[in-house]
Amino acid sequence: MKCFFTDNAITVYTDGSVVPCCRFVSTELEYNIQNIEPTKSLVDIKNSDTFLKVKNDLTNNIWPSGCKRCKRDEQLGISSRRQIYNENHFKKRVRVADIAIGNFCNLKCIMCNSFCSTQWVNDEKMLLENGIGHQQNSFNKIISNESIDKIIDWIESEETAVEVEIKGGEPLALPNSKYLFERLSSVKNNITVVLTTNGTFFPDWFPQMCEKIKIYMSLSIDGINEVYDYVRGSEKYSYELFYNNVQKFLKLPLVRINFNYVVQNTNIHHLKLCTEIFNDKFVNVIFLNNPKWLQLWNMPEESKAAIKEDLNTIPKSYLKYYKIDAVIKNIDNPCNKEEYSTFIKFSALLDKSRNKNLPVIAPHLFTKDSLDEYNKYRYT
Ligand code: SF4
Ligand code: SF4
Repeated sequence: MKCFFTDNAITVYTDGSVVPCCRFVSTELEYNIQNIEPTKSLVDIKNSDTFLKVKNDLTNNIWPSGCKRCKRDEQLGISSRRQIYNENHFKKRVRVADIAIGNFCNLKCIMCNSFCSTQWVNDEKMLLENGIGHQQNSFNKIISNESIDKIIDWIESEETAVEVEIKGGEPLALPNSKYLFERLSSVKNNITVVLTTNGTFFPDWFPQMCEKIKIYMSLSIDGINEVYDYVRGSEKYSYELFYNNVQKFLKLPLVRINFNYVVQNTNIHHLKLCTEIFNDKFVNVIFLNNPKWLQLWNMPEESKAAIKEDLNTIPKSYLKYYKIDAVIKNIDNPCNKEEYSTFIKFSALLDKSRNKNLPVIAPHLFTKDSLDEYNKYRYT
């Protein structure tokens, strides 16, 4: 097996750790994962034992423990990050720098956690006190301008075109984004930026950068109207605000805009609606790794047929990589009793904390018994 990332990419996580790609599970690996802040150079990290071991294992057809997400996707018949990039990137002679520039986010999406969003710290603690989830190493990190300079040095050391993937937290809300974009606008390489944003910020410096750099924008959406607001967990940053910003982004000289939809039991019934509203843009389906209780199969069996029927009417041209068959295959897995029970308790406790009400947003996710269970945790 080969993987594009082992030779051609660096990825910086929100906590500053540097790994081969964003699907890599650094906690699974016994190696010494290094951090961007104390290191002198990303070239040194790229040549370190960790990177070499991952490459050697894959070459010898051994799945490294850090690569278990690709392994799982390939076993489920979903295109893995390894397969997608192997197919598209080897022939391009390009490098990839995947940068999460900090974990500050203004939202607290139900499937997220404190590693990616600072807004999750309190709810995570509350859930843990109620026996749900596991202790995260909470931190509040924005990578420094000096670290951004190290990334620029790595990019300039590669004499190729470079794709820079920028993520957060929420990158357009982070103060160091402007510095990163400014530095990127003056490097000698041929640069394209893939910006993943939740679309709730429209900084005044951003339009100017779109004139200088080729930017592909991926807007995360995950629902329409009340489902969007439920998944996002915010009163202030509503679907209406997001939609208005989308209209502004559409007027910018971006290379392309697409939408990322993380499919889960709470929002799968809105996927078709999303493709209808944004029907001239790609809606890219993303599968959830964790938490397990939000997986597509965790809903009453009697609710699945109507959802699958609806999904089957989505024209395949709207969905990037034609993943709808894999979505349906996931729904078809039997509902896991233990995960579904955790889902009910999780939703009730989160709704109590956020003043939300899932049975009103998605009544099809409940049976009579699970609604009683939900009400027990929600209102006591
Ligand atoms: S196999 Fe997958 S997880 Fe491992 S480095 Fe490649 S893309 Fe990343
Ligand atoms: S927008 Fe992204 S980083 Fe922010 S809470 Fe949602 S999933 Fe997490």
